[in-house]
Amino acid sequence: MTPPNNGAAGTAAPARVWKRDNAWSAISPAEREAVAAYARDYMAFLSAAKTEREAFTLAVSQAQARGFVDLDSLRDGAQRLEPGMKVYRGCRGKTLLAAVIGKRGFEHGLHLVGGHTDAPRLDAKPVPLYQDGGVALLDTHYYGGIKKYQWVAMPLALHGVVVRQDGTAVQVCIGEDPADPVFTITDLLPHLGKDQAAKPMSEGINGEGLNVLLGSLPAEPADDDPEVKDKVKLGILRWLEKRYGIEEQDFASAELEVVPAGAARDLGLDRSMILGYAHDDRVCAYAALRALFDLEGTPEHTAVVLLCDKEEIGSVGATGMDSVFLENSVTEMIALTDVKDGNLALRRCLERSRMLSADVNALHDPNYPEVSSPNNMAQINAGVVVAKYTGSRGKSGSSDASAEFMAEIRQVFNAAGVVWQSGELGKVDVGGGGTIALFLARYGMDVVDCGVGLFSMHAPWEVAGKLDAYMAYKGYRAFLAHARR
Ligand code: MN
Ligand code: MN
Repeated sequence: MTPPNNGAAGTAAPARVWKRDNAWSAISPAEREAVAAYARDYMAFLSAAKTEREAFTLAVSQAQARGFVDLDSLRDGAQRLEPGMKVYRGCRGKTLLAAVIGKRGFEHGLHLVGGHTDAPRLDAKPVPLYQDGGVALLDTHYYGGIKKYQWVAMPLALHGVVVRQDGTAVQVCIGEDPADPVFTITDLLPHLGKDQAAKPMSEGINGEGLNVLLGSLPAEPADDDPEVKDKVKLGILRWLEKRYGIEEQDFASAELEVVPAGAARDLGLDRSMILGYAHDDRVCAYAALRALFDLEGTPEHTAVVLLCDKEEIGSVGATGMDSVFLENSVTEMIALTDVKDGNLALRRCLERSRMLSADVNALHDPNYPEVSSPNNMAQINAGVVVAKYTGSRGKSGSSDASAEFMAEIRQVFNAAGVVWQSGELGKVDVGGGGTIALFLARYGMDVVDCGVGLFSMHAPWEVAGKLDAYMAYKGYRAFLAHARR
C-alpha cells in the first residue's frame, strides 16, 4: 500500500502562505494618503449622524448633491429609467435605497451592498419625565444589545423628533455643540458599592436603572402651578414649552434617543484608528454610500445600496430588512422600464442578484484571548473582513455563503487590490450573532457578510481601524462595479 497522496509532493506551484496581518506596510504612500482622507470624511459623517433619521437625512442630501433623484418623483412624471441614471427611495425617513442604473436589464440581477444605520442606544419612554430625590429624570428603554454598565457616568446627548398631534415635528439635538449642556446617568460611589460590585456585571446596572439626569432647578415662582408638587419636573416642562413649544403628552408621539455626547476622534498616538459612537454599522453604511457615489461610469449591473433600520432588534418592522421595502422599490424601478410582467421580472431580478451584507465583525482582542479563535478572527487594520457565515452554536441563524460566491468575491477583491481577510465571530460555542444577510438570501441571491472589524462592539465608544474602513469602501466599490463572468 502506498501512503495517501496529500498533494504536497510533485505539485508544480510552490505552496503559498496567506498573509493576514497588519497591512499598513503593504499599501503605497499614495494609498495611505487616501486612507487618511477617507477617514476624515467618514468621521465627519459619523459625528453628524448619530441616529438612523440623521443618517438618512445626511445620506439623502449627499445623494441629491450628486444628482440622485427621488424614484417616486420619476414615477409621477412617467419618466423611463435609463442606464447611468441615479435614483433613491426612502422609507419613513429612516431606511434608504440608492441606485445607479446599470447597462444590463433588471432581469440580470442587481449588485447590492446593504448596511444598517440604527445603533444601540437608550430611547425615551412614552411617559419619560419624572421627579425623584429633588431632581428631574428621563426614563428610558434601551434599544439593541447593550452592556448597561457602560452607559453610566459619561456625557450623553439627546437626539430625535417630537411630533405634535397636529403633525408638526420638532427636531431635537442637545449635547453636541460645545456650548450645549449634556446629560448623564449616575453611578454608585465605590464607598457604597460593595454589594453592587459583588453582582454579576449583567446585574450591576439594570435596565430600569438607566434614568437620565435632566435637571435640578425648581420652576420659577412666576411659572408655578400650585396643583403640581414636583417643581423641578415642572421647571423642565416649562423649559421644553418655551424652547420647543411641546407639552408632556407630546412625548407619547416622539422618538428621542439618548446617545454618547461628542464627536468621533482619532485614536492612538499614530492616529491609525477611530473612536466613535455607532461604527456598527455606519462604518459600513457610509462606505457603501461612498462606493456608490464614487462609481466611475455606468456599471454593468444596477448598483444598489441599502441603508436600513432596526437591524439591532432583529430587522423587524416597516423600516427593517425583514419587510417588503426592497421588493416594492425594485418593482417600482422595473415599472419604469419596458418590461411587461413586473412580478416575474422582480423574482428573476432578486434571484440573480449578488449582495455584500455590509456589517461589522469582531476583531481578535488581545485583552480577551479566551473567546478568540486567533487564526480565524480578523485583526485590526489587516483589511475588510469577509465572513462566510455568522450565527451561533452550529451556525444557527447564518445564511452561509456558497464556496462559489466566496471565490467570486476573492477574485473581485484581489483583482482590485482590496486588502481583505476572513473573519469568524469568536470561538465556536462562545456566542455569535447575525446580520441582515439571511433576509436577502431567501430570494435565492448570493449574499456574504463583508464589513469592518471592531473592538468594543456595541459599547458607547467603539474602535475601528482606518485602513479597514477604507478597504470596506474600496471593496464595495469594486463589487458594485464588477462585470460578472
Ligand atoms: Mn451591525
Ligand atoms: Mn450590532
